Amino acid sequence: MSTRRSLRGAEYQHGPLGGTHARAHLRTKWGCACAYCGATGVPLNVDHLRPRSRGGSDRMSNLVLACVPCNQAKGSRPVTVFLAHDPERLAKVLEQVRAPLQDAAAMNTTRWGLLAALTALGRPVRCWSGSLTQRNRTVTGLPKTHSLDALCVGALDRETWNTIVRVPGQLLVVKAVGRGSYARTTPDRFGFPRLRRARSKQHFGFVTGDLAQATVPSGKWAGRWVGHIAVRARGQHSLSTPAGRINVSHRNIRLLQRGDGYSYAKRDGIVE
Ligand SMILES: [Zn+2]
Repeated sequence: MSTRRSLRGAEYQHGPLGGTHARAHLRTKWGCACAYCGATGVPLNVDHLRPRSRGGSDRMSNLVLACVPCNQAKGSRPVTVFLAHDPERLAKVLEQVRAPLQDAAAMNTTRWGLLAALTALGRPVRCWSGSLTQRNRTVTGLPKTHSLDALCVGALDRETWNTIVRVPGQLLVVKAVGRGSYARTTPDRFGFPRLRRARSKQHFGFVTGDLAQATVPSGKWAGRWVGHIAVRARGQHSLSTPAGRINVSHRNIRLLQRGDGYSYAKRDGIVE
C-alpha cells in the first residue's frame, strides 16, 4: 500500500487494514478509556454514536471506544438517548468527538512534508503506516526493538516471498565520533591561549581517531591491543582498549583503518 495523503473519514474503516487504523486512532483519541463510563484496563469495542441500524456512518466522527457493558447497554440506541440521564457526560463525549487530534495532526504534517521532500529527490519513495509495522511484528512473533521494527516496515507478502526469513544475529553499530578538534590553541580558564597546538594533526604517521593494533612487548600491558588512538606529539600515542587507555610508542603500532569520523563496532544479539 502506498498513499500520498493521510487516511481520513471512512477510509479508516474500509482501508486495506480494516479496523486496524481506526482502532489505533480511537485509542489515541480516547486515551484507551471507555467514552461512556471512563473505564480503563478493560476490553474496548468500537461503538457507533449513531447506530448503523439507524443510518449512522463508519466515519471517525461517529466512532468512540466503549467497554463491553456500556456497548451492550447502549444497544442500538443513539448516544443522545443512551446518555439522556447524564447531559454532562453526553456533552463531553460530543465535544471530544469533534476535537481534532492536535499532536497527530502535527505528526501528519511533518510526515507528509518529509515524504514530499524525499520524493523531490527523484528516487522512488514509499511509505506505510506504523500500525502495519506493528501488525507485521505481531504476525512474525518478533520482540519490539528498533532494529527489528525496521525489518518489519512495509508490505510483507508470503506469496511473493517478500517476508522476513531470518533475523540478524549481529549488528553493525556505526557511531559518529568526529574528526577531533579544529582549535589551534588550548585556552586557559579566562579564554586566553595557554598552549599552541601543532599545525599538523599527524604525528609519526598517525592521526587521532585511527584504528590501530598495538603490540606491547613487555610490562603490565604486554600483549596485543586493538583500539582507537589519540596521537601525542612525541610519538608515545594513547590507545583506548576495552581494558582502559594505554600509552604505546608509535613503533609498536600498526594502522588498521584510517579514522573517518565514525567508529564501527559489532554487537551480538538484537539491540534496542
Ligand atoms: Zn463503559
